[in-house]
Amino acid sequence: MSDCLFCNIAAGKIPCDIVYQDEEILAFRDIQPQAPIHLLIIPKAHAADGAAGINEGNSAIVGKCFEAAAKLASELELKEGFRMVTNNGPAAGQSVPHLHFHLLAGKPLTLQMA
Ligand code: 5GP
Ligand code: ZN
Repeated sequence: MSDCLFCNIAAGKIPCDIVYQDEEILAFRDIQPQAPIHLLIIPKAHAADGAAGINEGNSAIVGKCFEAAAKLASELELKEGFRMVTNNGPAAGQSVPHLHFHLLAGKPLTLQMA
């Protein structure tokens, strides 16, 4: 989608700090980090606007995002743990309607989820 920020990042039209990529997945540093390590893991294709758009036909990409997270956790030695979050819709604070997961780590994270 030409007007989608993360599609444009995935296409290399907008620069980002890439930490991992393969054919289907891109992971890069969030521009406004909320933890010492704050990565965004996205499908390169616009698989869905968010979690609510996941179905039988596209759910495999969610697994690929988590595979990338596990690789990154190993490479970055996140032995103390990490958190994966996805926001869906305005009440959850979603600002970019392209399916993505936040990987947060590098400090003790609050136990409060909401
Ligand atoms: P959401 O609010 O949709 O869950 O997450 C979107 C995330 O994208 C936010 O944490 C925001 O800081 C990040 N973001 C927005 N624009 C850019 C950008 O141009 N580059 C990068 N690297 N991150 C961005
Ligand atoms: Zn997109």
